[in-house]
Amino acid sequence: MLTISQLRKSFGTTEVLRGIDLHVAKGQTTIVIGPSGSGKSTLLNCVNLLEIPDAGRLELDGLEMGFGDGGKKRIRELTRFRQKTGMVFQSHQLFPHRTALENVMEGLIVVKRWNRSDAAQRGKALLAKVGLGEFADRYPAQLSGGQQQRVGIARALAMEPAILLFDEPTSALDPELVGEVLLVMKELTREGMTLIVATHEMNFAREVGDRVIFMENGMISDEGTPEYIFEGSRNERVRQFLSRFD
Ligand code: ATP
Ligand code: MG
Repeated sequence: MLTISQLRKSFGTTEVLRGIDLHVAKGQTTIVIGPSGSGKSTLLNCVNLLEIPDAGRLELDGLEMGFGDGGKKRIRELTRFRQKTGMVFQSHQLFPHRTALENVMEGLIVVKRWNRSDAAQRGKALLAKVGLGEFADRYPAQLSGGQQQRVGIARALAMEPAILLFDEPTSALDPELVGEVLLVMKELTREGMTLIVATHEMNFAREVGDRVIFMENGMISDEGTPEYIFEGSRNERVRQFLSRFD
């Protein structure tokens, strides 16, 4: 499904990703953990091509892209790749002057060129799927943080991405709102969606992660099943990192 090979990214003189190799199988949920600044967001942003990698390769759902070969990428090529990914950020991702439904419909109309009524129908179905059938006409400011995140998930799903990327989707939420967002994500994994989730929700990682990768200084320094990472890893840095969550 997704293969990341020797991916590198620097900002100025700071090497943020220093040769990432990762394979994600279809239907798998990969959890990315690691200290602040280790490169989790940059990794997701590179898969989404929000940041253009300096070197390495990405292969997603049959589309392959090499970076750092000197040739400039064509916008159309980048867009095609990007459309195979869906991204859910920490917060502030919705258009404030559009209703929940309009937010979900936006990509269908602008990118997929659907007509309004088809887009509205799909949009409503997606909102119902994330438990927001009754909230279609609300504006983001009239929704709780958890509801806004769920609209964000519905919006990402509308584009039928091959993979969904979540960058700390619950870390800006009040604790009582975290559960409803994780529940929707759990449901997606159950349905066989492919997810990569950067998160500090260790219980969620344990429960739904097929695989956990530990990032440190722009590298993957340990990886394995949740059981291995949380109980079995002998990596001192992993133990030290996890001890903060006990
Ligand atoms: P956190 O847990 O705090 O979200 P992270 O693991 O997601 O951290 P990144 O956001 O990927 O880490 O950042 C990795 C490093 O890259 C940091 O040192 C950060 O300052 C730097 N960085 C990230 N984005 C940029 C940018 N656009 N320009 C310059 N430096 C950046
Ligand atoms: Mg981050």
